[in-house]
Amino acid sequence: MSRLEPFRTTVFAEMTELAVRHEAINLGQGFPDEDGPASMLEAACSAILSGANQYTPGAGAWDLREAVADDRYSRYGIKYDPQHEVLITVGATEGITAAILALTERGDEVVLIEPFFDSYPAAVALAGATLRTATMETDGDCFVLDIDSVRAAITPATKVLVVNSPHNPTGSVMTEAEAAAIADLAVSHDLIVVVDEVYEHLVFDGRRHISLATLPGMRERTISVSSAGKTFNVTGWKIGWVCGPAHLVSAVRAAKQFMSFVSGAPLQPAIAVALRNELPWVRAMRDDLNIKRDILRTALSNAGFKVHASQGTYFVIADATPLSLGDATKLCRRMPEEIGVAAVPVSAFVTTNHHDRWRNFVRFAFSKRHDVLADASQRLVGLH
Ligand code: PMP
Ligand code: GLN
Repeated sequence: MSRLEPFRTTVFAEMTELAVRHEAINLGQGFPDEDGPASMLEAACSAILSGANQYTPGAGAWDLREAVADDRYSRYGIKYDPQHEVLITVGATEGITAAILALTERGDEVVLIEPFFDSYPAAVALAGATLRTATMETDGDCFVLDIDSVRAAITPATKVLVVNSPHNPTGSVMTEAEAAAIADLAVSHDLIVVVDEVYEHLVFDGRRHISLATLPGMRERTISVSSAGKTFNVTGWKIGWVCGPAHLVSAVRAAKQFMSFVSGAPLQPAIAVALRNELPWVRAMRDDLNIKRDILRTALSNAGFKVHASQGTYFVIADATPLSLGDATKLCRRMPEEIGVAAVPVSAFVTTNHHDRWRNFVRFAFSKRHDVLADASQRLVGLH
Protein backbone atom coordinates (compact mmCIF):
# COMPACT_ATOMS: atom_id res chain seq x y z
CA MET A 1 0.00 0.00 0.00
CA SER A 2 1.28 3.45 -0.85
CA ARG A 3 2.16 5.50 2.21
CA LEU A 4 -0.37 8.13 1.10
CA GLU A 5 -3.19 5.62 0.58
CA PRO A 6 -5.01 6.62 3.82
CA PHE A 7 -4.92 10.29 2.79
CA ARG A 8 -6.80 10.15 -0.51
CA THR A 9 -9.62 12.61 0.25
CA THR A 10 -9.98 15.15 3.03
CA VAL A 11 -13.12 15.53 5.08
CA PHE A 12 -13.12 19.25 4.24
CA ALA A 13 -13.32 18.56 0.52
CA GLU A 14 -16.07 15.95 1.02
CA MET A 15 -18.27 18.10 3.27
CA THR A 16 -17.73 21.27 1.22
CA GLU A 17 -18.78 19.36 -1.90
CA LEU A 18 -21.95 18.19 -0.12
CA ALA A 19 -22.61 21.76 1.06
CA VAL A 20 -22.28 23.09 -2.49
CA ARG A 21 -24.42 20.29 -3.97
CA HIS A 22 -27.26 20.91 -1.49
CA GLU A 23 -26.77 24.68 -1.22
CA ALA A 24 -26.24 24.19 2.50
CA ILE A 25 -24.66 26.66 4.92
CA ASN A 26 -21.06 25.47 5.22
CA LEU A 27 -20.14 25.30 8.90
CA GLY A 28 -17.76 22.45 8.02
CA GLN A 29 -14.60 23.82 6.41
CA GLY A 30 -13.18 26.65 8.53
CA PHE A 31 -13.09 29.84 6.51
CA PRO A 32 -14.70 33.25 6.98
CA ASP A 33 -17.34 34.70 4.65
CA GLU A 34 -16.21 38.32 4.96
CA ASP A 35 -13.12 40.04 3.58
CA GLY A 36 -10.11 41.19 5.56
CA PRO A 37 -9.02 44.80 6.11
CA ALA A 38 -9.51 47.13 3.10
CA SER A 39 -5.98 48.58 3.35
CA MET A 40 -4.54 45.08 2.89
CA LEU A 41 -6.73 44.33 -0.14
CA GLU A 42 -5.79 47.68 -1.69
CA ALA A 43 -2.09 47.05 -1.01
CA ALA A 44 -2.34 43.71 -2.84
CA CYS A 45 -4.03 45.38 -5.86
CA SER A 46 -1.42 48.11 -6.03
CA ALA A 47 1.41 45.60 -5.63
CA ILE A 48 0.07 43.77 -8.70
CA LEU A 49 -0.33 47.01 -10.66
CA SER A 50 3.11 48.24 -9.71
CA GLY A 51 4.86 45.10 -10.94
CA ALA A 52 5.50 42.93 -7.85
CA ASN A 53 4.65 39.93 -10.01
CA GLN A 54 7.84 37.90 -10.27
CA TYR A 55 9.54 35.46 -7.89
CA THR A 56 10.39 36.81 -4.46
CA PRO A 57 13.75 36.00 -2.81
CA GLY A 58 13.88 32.36 -1.62
CA ALA A 59 12.96 33.14 1.99
CA GLY A 60 10.12 35.47 0.95
CA ALA A 61 9.59 39.20 0.40
CA TRP A 62 11.91 41.19 2.64
CA ASP A 63 9.22 43.58 3.93
CA LEU A 64 7.03 40.68 5.06
CA ARG A 65 9.93 38.91 6.78
CA GLU A 66 10.72 42.15 8.59
CA ALA A 67 7.07 42.73 9.52
CA VAL A 68 6.80 39.16 10.87
CA ALA A 69 9.95 39.62 12.97
CA ASP A 70 8.74 42.99 14.30
CA ASP A 71 5.32 41.55 15.09
CA ARG A 72 6.76 38.58 17.02
CA TYR A 73 9.01 40.94 18.96
CA SER A 74 6.25 43.38 19.84
CA ARG A 75 3.70 40.74 20.90
CA TYR A 76 5.92 38.01 22.38
CA GLY A 77 9.24 39.76 23.07
CA ILE A 78 11.22 37.27 20.95
CA LYS A 79 13.74 38.69 18.46
CA TYR A 80 14.08 36.86 15.14
CA ASP A 81 16.59 37.89 12.48
CA PRO A 82 14.49 38.38 9.33
CA GLN A 83 17.48 37.34 7.21
CA HIS A 84 18.04 33.88 8.70
CA GLU A 85 15.24 33.14 11.14
CA VAL A 86 12.03 33.91 9.22
CA LEU A 87 10.80 31.97 6.17
CA ILE A 88 7.65 32.75 4.17
CA THR A 89 5.72 29.65 3.09
CA VAL A 90 2.64 28.62 1.10
CA GLY A 91 0.36 28.85 4.11
CA ALA A 92 1.05 27.23 7.44
CA THR A 93 0.40 23.86 5.78
CA GLU A 94 3.59 24.09 3.74
CA GLY A 95 5.55 25.41 6.73
CA ILE A 96 4.53 22.42 8.87
CA THR A 97 5.05 19.86 6.11
CA ALA A 98 8.44 21.33 5.15
CA ALA A 99 9.48 21.30 8.82
CA ILE A 100 8.57 17.63 9.26
CA LEU A 101 10.23 16.69 5.95
CA ALA A 102 13.36 18.64 6.80
CA LEU A 103 13.79 17.58 10.40
CA THR A 104 12.99 13.86 10.33
CA GLU A 105 14.56 10.85 8.67
CA ARG A 106 13.12 7.38 8.18
CA GLY A 107 13.05 5.76 11.63
CA ASP A 108 12.61 9.05 13.49
CA GLU A 109 9.40 9.41 15.43
CA VAL A 110 7.00 12.34 15.41
CA VAL A 111 4.51 12.78 18.25
CA LEU A 112 1.11 14.29 17.41
CA ILE A 113 -1.67 15.01 19.86
CA GLU A 114 -5.09 13.58 18.94
CA PRO A 115 -7.27 15.11 17.67
CA PHE A 116 -4.98 16.90 15.20
CA PHE A 117 -5.24 19.00 12.04
CA ASP A 118 -5.41 16.54 9.15
CA SER A 119 -2.27 17.65 7.34
CA TYR A 120 0.06 16.57 10.19
CA PRO A 121 -0.14 12.77 9.84
CA ALA A 122 0.02 13.13 6.04
CA ALA A 123 3.26 15.11 6.43
CA VAL A 124 4.68 12.42 8.72
CA ALA A 125 3.78 9.80 6.09
CA LEU A 126 5.37 11.89 3.31
CA ALA A 127 8.56 12.09 5.35
CA GLY A 128 8.57 8.33 5.92
CA ALA A 129 8.86 9.00 9.66
CA THR A 130 6.96 7.03 12.31
CA LEU A 131 3.82 8.45 13.86
CA ARG A 132 3.21 8.20 17.61
CA THR A 133 0.27 9.88 19.24
CA ALA A 134 -0.78 11.34 22.56
CA THR A 135 -4.31 12.38 23.48
CA MET A 136 -6.50 15.05 24.96
CA GLU A 137 -8.97 14.37 27.71
CA THR A 138 -12.20 16.04 28.75
CA ASP A 139 -12.27 18.29 31.77
CA GLY A 140 -15.87 19.41 32.26
CA ASP A 141 -16.84 20.93 28.93
CA CYS A 142 -13.19 21.65 27.98
CA PHE A 143 -10.56 19.48 26.32
CA VAL A 144 -7.12 19.45 27.93
CA LEU A 145 -3.81 17.87 27.09
CA ASP A 146 -3.17 14.47 28.69
CA ILE A 147 0.47 15.20 29.49
CA ASP A 148 1.07 11.63 30.71
CA SER A 149 0.10 10.39 27.28
CA VAL A 150 2.62 12.77 25.70
CA ARG A 151 5.28 11.47 28.07
CA ALA A 152 4.34 7.89 27.22
CA ALA A 153 4.53 8.57 23.46
CA ILE A 154 8.12 9.85 23.65
CA THR A 155 10.88 7.28 23.00
CA PRO A 156 14.61 7.64 22.29
CA ALA A 157 13.65 7.82 18.57
CA THR A 158 11.37 10.85 19.03
CA LYS A 159 12.62 13.82 17.07
CA VAL A 160 9.67 16.18 16.73
CA LEU A 161 6.59 17.03 18.79
CA VAL A 162 3.83 18.97 17.03
CA VAL A 163 1.71 21.23 19.22
CA ASN A 164 -1.29 23.28 18.09
CA SER A 165 -2.80 26.04 20.21
CA PRO A 166 -5.38 27.52 19.90
CA HIS A 167 -6.46 24.06 18.93
CA ASN A 168 -8.31 22.84 15.86
CA PRO A 169 -10.74 21.07 16.21
CA THR A 170 -11.45 21.36 19.97
CA GLY A 171 -11.13 25.15 20.32
CA SER A 172 -9.05 24.70 23.45
CA VAL A 173 -6.28 27.15 24.35
CA MET A 174 -3.14 25.92 26.09
CA THR A 175 -2.80 26.99 29.72
CA GLU A 176 0.42 28.12 31.38
CA ALA A 177 0.64 24.78 33.19
CA GLU A 178 0.23 22.81 29.94
CA ALA A 179 2.84 24.99 28.19
CA ALA A 180 5.30 24.51 31.06
CA ALA A 181 4.75 20.73 31.03
CA ILE A 182 5.37 20.55 27.27
CA ALA A 183 8.48 22.71 27.54
CA ASP A 184 9.77 20.51 30.34
CA LEU A 185 9.36 17.34 28.25
CA ALA A 186 10.84 18.98 25.15
CA VAL A 187 13.93 20.18 26.99
CA SER A 188 14.50 16.98 28.94
CA HIS A 189 14.13 14.77 25.82
CA ASP A 190 15.89 17.23 23.53
CA LEU A 191 12.95 17.44 21.08
CA ILE A 192 12.26 19.91 18.31
CA VAL A 193 8.77 21.36 18.77
CA VAL A 194 6.77 22.49 15.76
CA VAL A 195 4.12 24.88 17.08
CA ASP A 196 1.11 25.60 14.92
CA GLU A 197 -0.21 29.01 15.95
CA VAL A 198 -2.47 29.86 13.03
CA TYR A 199 -5.23 30.91 15.46
CA GLU A 200 -2.88 32.88 17.73
CA HIS A 201 -5.10 36.00 17.59
CA LEU A 202 -8.40 34.17 17.96
CA VAL A 203 -8.68 33.63 21.72
CA PHE A 204 -11.83 34.53 23.61
CA ASP A 205 -13.11 35.85 26.94
CA GLY A 206 -9.92 37.82 27.64
CA ARG A 207 -7.64 34.76 27.42
CA ARG A 208 -4.02 35.09 26.29
CA HIS A 209 -2.27 32.89 23.75
CA ILE A 210 1.04 31.51 25.05
CA SER A 211 3.67 31.18 22.36
CA LEU A 212 5.77 28.14 23.36
CA ALA A 213 9.01 29.65 22.02
CA THR A 214 8.86 32.21 24.86
CA LEU A 215 9.36 29.55 27.57
CA PRO A 216 12.85 28.93 29.02
CA GLY A 217 14.91 26.60 26.84
CA MET A 218 12.36 26.67 24.00
CA ARG A 219 13.48 29.35 21.54
CA GLU A 220 16.39 27.25 20.31
CA ARG A 221 14.22 24.16 19.71
CA THR A 222 10.93 25.67 18.51
CA ILE A 223 9.69 26.22 14.98
CA SER A 224 6.70 28.59 15.29
CA VAL A 225 4.32 28.47 12.34
CA SER A 226 1.56 30.94 11.59
CA SER A 227 -0.33 32.29 8.61
CA ALA A 228 -2.26 35.26 7.28
CA GLY A 229 -5.29 33.12 6.41
CA LYS A 230 -7.05 33.09 9.79
CA THR A 231 -5.64 36.39 11.05
CA PHE A 232 -6.69 38.58 8.13
CA ASN A 233 -9.57 36.55 6.60
CA VAL A 234 -7.58 35.50 3.54
CA THR A 235 -7.52 31.70 3.70
CA GLY A 236 -7.26 31.58 -0.11
CA TRP A 237 -4.06 33.63 -0.21
CA LYS A 238 -2.03 30.82 1.35
CA ILE A 239 0.77 32.93 2.79
CA GLY A 240 2.30 31.62 6.01
CA TRP A 241 5.57 31.91 7.92
CA VAL A 242 8.01 29.91 9.96
CA CYS A 243 10.17 31.45 12.69
CA GLY A 244 12.90 29.68 14.60
CA PRO A 245 16.64 29.44 15.16
CA ALA A 246 18.71 29.85 11.98
CA HIS A 247 19.91 26.23 11.75
CA LEU A 248 16.34 24.86 11.90
CA VAL A 249 14.85 27.51 9.58
CA SER A 250 17.58 26.91 7.00
CA ALA A 251 16.74 23.16 7.06
CA VAL A 252 13.03 23.95 6.57
CA ARG A 253 13.92 26.30 3.73
CA ALA A 254 15.87 23.53 1.99
CA ALA A 255 12.69 21.41 1.92
CA LYS A 256 10.38 24.32 1.07
CA GLN A 257 12.40 25.42 -1.95
CA PHE A 258 11.70 22.12 -3.71
CA MET A 259 8.02 22.08 -2.78
CA SER A 260 7.08 25.51 -4.12
CA PHE A 261 10.32 27.57 -4.30
CA VAL A 262 8.47 30.77 -3.28
CA SER A 263 4.87 31.93 -2.87
CA GLY A 264 2.51 34.72 -4.03
CA ALA A 265 4.73 37.78 -4.54
CA PRO A 266 2.14 40.62 -4.53
CA LEU A 267 0.29 39.22 -1.53
CA GLN A 268 3.33 39.35 0.71
CA PRO A 269 3.82 43.17 0.88
CA ALA A 270 0.05 43.48 1.46
CA ILE A 271 0.26 41.18 4.48
CA ALA A 272 3.26 43.17 5.71
CA VAL A 273 1.02 46.28 5.63
CA ALA A 274 -1.67 44.41 7.57
CA LEU A 275 0.76 43.10 10.22
CA ARG A 276 2.02 46.64 10.76
CA ASN A 277 -1.31 48.51 10.76
CA GLU A 278 -4.30 46.23 11.12
CA LEU A 279 -3.98 44.42 14.45
CA PRO A 280 -6.82 46.63 15.82
CA TRP A 281 -8.96 45.25 12.94
CA VAL A 282 -8.00 41.72 14.02
CA ARG A 283 -8.97 42.41 17.65
CA ALA A 284 -12.37 43.73 16.56
CA MET A 285 -12.87 40.66 14.35
CA ARG A 286 -11.91 38.45 17.30
CA ASP A 287 -14.42 40.20 19.58
CA ASP A 288 -17.13 39.67 16.99
CA LEU A 289 -16.15 35.97 16.72
CA ASN A 290 -16.52 35.73 20.48
CA ILE A 291 -20.17 36.82 20.08
CA LYS A 292 -20.67 34.46 17.12
CA ARG A 293 -19.32 31.57 19.19
CA ASP A 294 -22.00 32.23 21.81
CA ILE A 295 -24.73 32.39 19.16
CA LEU A 296 -23.73 29.06 17.65
CA ARG A 297 -23.26 27.37 21.03
CA THR A 298 -26.80 28.41 22.02
CA ALA A 299 -28.21 27.19 18.70
CA LEU A 300 -26.48 23.81 19.01
CA SER A 301 -27.67 23.40 22.54
CA ASN A 302 -31.26 24.28 21.50
CA ALA A 303 -30.96 21.67 18.75
CA GLY A 304 -30.19 19.01 21.37
CA PHE A 305 -26.39 18.69 21.21
CA LYS A 306 -24.17 18.62 24.29
CA VAL A 307 -21.96 21.57 23.49
CA HIS A 308 -18.34 21.90 24.58
CA ALA A 309 -16.42 25.06 25.42
CA SER A 310 -14.54 26.91 22.70
CA GLN A 311 -11.81 29.12 24.14
CA GLY A 312 -10.32 30.09 20.78
CA THR A 313 -10.23 29.37 16.98
CA TYR A 314 -13.33 29.35 14.74
CA PHE A 315 -14.59 26.03 16.03
CA VAL A 316 -16.86 24.47 18.60
CA ILE A 317 -17.31 20.76 19.22
CA ALA A 318 -20.73 19.32 19.94
CA ASP A 319 -21.56 15.82 21.13
CA ALA A 320 -24.48 14.38 19.15
CA THR A 321 -25.13 11.49 21.57
CA PRO A 322 -28.32 13.03 23.09
CA LEU A 323 -29.85 13.31 19.60
CA SER A 324 -29.60 9.52 19.00
CA LEU A 325 -29.13 10.10 15.26
CA GLY A 326 -26.21 7.72 14.68
CA ASP A 327 -22.52 8.52 14.63
CA ALA A 328 -21.16 11.93 13.64
CA THR A 329 -19.86 10.85 10.24
CA LYS A 330 -23.29 9.58 9.18
CA LEU A 331 -24.92 12.67 10.65
CA CYS A 332 -22.54 15.03 8.79
CA ARG A 333 -23.25 13.20 5.52
CA ARG A 334 -27.03 13.64 6.03
CA MET A 335 -27.17 17.18 7.40
CA PRO A 336 -26.48 19.18 4.19
CA GLU A 337 -29.40 17.56 2.37
CA GLU A 338 -31.79 17.23 5.32
CA ILE A 339 -31.42 20.57 7.08
CA GLY A 340 -29.12 22.59 4.79
CA VAL A 341 -26.17 22.82 7.19
CA ALA A 342 -22.73 21.21 6.74
CA ALA A 343 -20.30 20.30 9.53
CA VAL A 344 -17.38 17.88 9.94
CA PRO A 345 -17.04 14.77 12.14
CA VAL A 346 -14.20 14.94 14.68
CA SER A 347 -13.25 11.35 13.84
CA ALA A 348 -11.56 12.83 10.74
CA PHE A 349 -8.99 14.40 13.09
CA VAL A 350 -7.88 11.19 14.82
CA THR A 351 -6.19 7.89 13.99
CA THR A 352 -8.46 4.85 13.60
CA ASN A 353 -7.46 3.67 17.11
CA HIS A 354 -9.26 6.69 18.51
CA HIS A 355 -12.37 6.69 16.30
CA ASP A 356 -14.60 5.15 18.92
CA ARG A 357 -13.90 7.78 21.50
CA TRP A 358 -14.71 10.65 19.10
CA ARG A 359 -17.39 8.96 16.97
CA ASN A 360 -20.27 11.15 18.18
CA PHE A 361 -18.49 14.51 18.10
CA VAL A 362 -19.20 17.07 15.39
CA ARG A 363 -17.13 20.21 14.69
CA PHE A 364 -18.96 23.38 13.66
CA ALA A 365 -17.32 26.61 12.41
CA PHE A 366 -18.78 29.96 13.51
CA SER A 367 -16.66 32.21 11.24
CA LYS A 368 -19.76 33.31 9.33
CA ARG A 369 -21.81 36.50 9.03
CA HIS A 370 -24.42 37.11 11.74
CA ASP A 371 -27.32 36.67 9.30
CA VAL A 372 -25.84 33.35 8.12
CA LEU A 373 -25.48 32.12 11.71
CA ALA A 374 -29.05 33.18 12.48
CA ASP A 375 -30.26 31.20 9.46
CA ALA A 376 -28.13 28.18 10.44
CA SER A 377 -29.50 28.37 13.99
CA GLN A 378 -33.07 28.05 12.69
CA ARG A 379 -32.16 25.17 10.40
CA LEU A 380 -30.37 23.27 13.21
CA VAL A 381 -33.56 23.12 15.26
CA GLY A 382 -34.99 20.96 12.45
CA LEU A 383 -32.54 18.18 13.24
CA HIS A 384 -34.22 14.97 14.35
N1 PMP B 1 -3.15 24.48 11.03
C1 PMP B 1 -4.40 24.52 11.51
C2 PMP B 1 -4.64 24.13 12.92
C3 PMP B 1 -5.45 24.91 10.67
O1 PMP B 1 -6.69 24.91 11.13
C4 PMP B 1 -5.16 25.28 9.34
C5 PMP B 1 -6.27 25.72 8.43
N2 PMP B 1 -6.21 27.11 8.36
C6 PMP B 1 -3.85 25.24 8.91
C7 PMP B 1 -2.86 24.83 9.76
C8 PMP B 1 -3.47 25.58 7.51
O2 PMP B 1 -3.25 26.93 7.36
P1 PMP B 1 -2.95 27.55 5.91
O3 PMP B 1 -4.25 27.68 5.21
O4 PMP B 1 -2.27 28.84 6.21
O5 PMP B 1 -2.06 26.58 5.20
N1 GLN C 1 -8.30 24.89 8.53
C1 GLN C 1 -9.61 24.73 7.98
C2 GLN C 1 -10.36 23.71 8.79
O1 GLN C 1 -9.84 23.10 9.68
C3 GLN C 1 -9.60 24.36 6.51
C4 GLN C 1 -8.74 23.20 6.20
C5 GLN C 1 -8.74 22.71 4.80
O2 GLN C 1 -9.66 22.92 4.03
N2 GLN C 1 -7.69 22.03 4.49
O3 GLN C 1 -11.52 23.50 8.53
